[in-house]
Amino acid sequence: MLIIGLTGGIGSGKSTVSQYFAELGVPVIDADQLTRQLVEPGQPALQEIFEQLGHELLTVEGELDRAQLRRRIFAHPEQRQTLEAILHPRAREAAEQQLSVLRASSPPPDYVILSVPLLIESGWSDLVDRVLVVDTPPELQRQRASQRDGLDAEQIDAVMQTQVDRDTRLAAADDVIHNDSDLATLRKQVEALHRQYLQLARSA
Ligand code: ATP
Repeated sequence: MLIIGLTGGIGSGKSTVSQYFAELGVPVIDADQLTRQLVEPGQPALQEIFEQLGHELLTVEGELDRAQLRRRIFAHPEQRQTLEAILHPRAREAAEQQLSVLRASSPPPDYVILSVPLLIESGWSDLVDRVLVVDTPPELQRQRASQRDGLDAEQIDAVMQTQVDRDTRLAAADDVIHNDSDLATLRKQVEALHRQYLQLARSA
C-alpha cells in the first residue's frame, strides 16, 4: 500500500484535492480532521490545552473556543508551539493507527492519501512514500483563504510565516499539482495522478 503525503500552504487547495481523490475511491486520512477530533469535549488533549493555555479557552458548552485560540496564537506565537506539542504527536499516532487498519483490510487499497498541512515542517515525511505538493501562487492562496475564512491579510501572513516557503516545499515534492487555474483543471491533474499512482502501486 503506497502512502502519498499531500501537503500545501494555507488555502492552496488540499481539501479540494483530497475530495477529488476520495471521489475516485481513494482512502483519505486528513490530519486536520484528526486534530479536530482530538479537541472534542472529553478528549484528554482538550484538557491539556486548558491546563497549559488557560481555562478561558473553554466555552460555556465545554468546547474549545477556536476563535479565541486563533487570536491567542496570533498574539503570542510561542503558544503555538505549546499547542502543537500537545496535538502533533497524538494526531500522528491516530494517523498511524488508521494506516494500520487500511493495511490490514482485505484487499488493502493500492494507495492512500495522507493529507498533512505541516507534512514537511513537522517531520511526518518519514511516514510517506511520496510527497505530493499542491502549489498555488501566494496571491491566490491569500485570496482564496480570505474568501473562505474571512481572515484578513495580516492573519493569513502570520499563518504563512509558520509554514515553509514555496521553494522549500517544492524542493521536497515528488509530484506537484499546480492550482493556479479553475477547478476542472485541478480535477484533471488529480485524475492523471490517480492513474500514475495506481500504476506505481501495481508495479511495486
Ligand atoms: P487550508 O489548509 O487553509 O484549510 P486547503 O489547502 O485545504 O486550505 P481548500 O480548502 O481546498 O484549501 O481551498 C481553499 C479555498 O479555495 C476553498 O474555498 C476552495 O473551494 C477554493 N479553491 C481551491 N482551488 C480552487 C480553484 N482552482 N478555483 C477556485 N477556487 C478554488
